[in-house]
Amino acid sequence: MNPQPPEDDTAGSRLVRVQHRIQEACRLAGRPADAVRLLAVSKTWGADRVLELATLGQQAFAENYLQEALDKIDACAGRSLEWHFIGPIQSNKTRPIAENFHWVHSVERDKIARRLSDQRPPDVAPLQVCVQVNVSGEASKSGCDPDEAADLARLIVELPRLELRGLMAIPEPTNDAALQRARFGALRALHQDIRSTLDQRAGPETATSFDTLSMGMSDDLEVAVQEGATLVRIGTALFGRRQTSDVRPLP
Ligand SMILES: *Cc1c(COP(=O)(O)O)cnc(C)c1O
Repeated sequence: MNPQPPEDDTAGSRLVRVQHRIQEACRLAGRPADAVRLLAVSKTWGADRVLELATLGQQAFAENYLQEALDKIDACAGRSLEWHFIGPIQSNKTRPIAENFHWVHSVERDKIARRLSDQRPPDVAPLQVCVQVNVSGEASKSGCDPDEAADLARLIVELPRLELRGLMAIPEPTNDAALQRARFGALRALHQDIRSTLDQRAGPETATSFDTLSMGMSDDLEVAVQEGATLVRIGTALFGRRQTSDVRPLP
């Protein structure tokens, strides 16, 4: 008999495991198996790891750090991958984001939204945008206040080079499943409120394309899917544990 490796830890097996987790969570929630998109968070990993997953069929990748992302996008050009920016945005960094990404999940103030629209090149599709909301109150600093999300959403709808797609949140890390559920549930409720306002004020087409709930990571994707996530952002479970800290000094 051939000895089996202790753990099947290849890019292919990790991808299949994550896909199964998503499908199983959908099944338990009574949602269709294709209701949730998988976004591969490739921050800190090299272009070789991105290309490896791309070869296995993964199409959408997300990055937090601009310079690192631009190098990777460059190295993967020609593969027609879809790039999502999910990190904090400084206003002097909006142009390369507007020029190089398909999606931005981390829009949390008016000024950033306006600059991204102004700087989006005219010859490409509008930038797909989620409003990042702070659903954890004092426990988190990123994202706009839930009370401000509707106004920011309405502004984005008016901007010509942005398409408003949904809401994103990064709840504070916790093992408390009830708290996870409450945070994701709060984002879903806010999404429904904003969607009905958009339907009344901006029309059914705008409301229909506001279809994205970007929530759930490696440790909590099941709860997020249960609470209605349409897109999960997965790093560790796809690539392994990151060596470098997430929190980097600003360049
Ligand atoms: C790093 C990161 C993720 C992925 O987290 P994992 O726990 O590694 O799956 C998702 N979303 C954002 C915004 C991140 O910064």
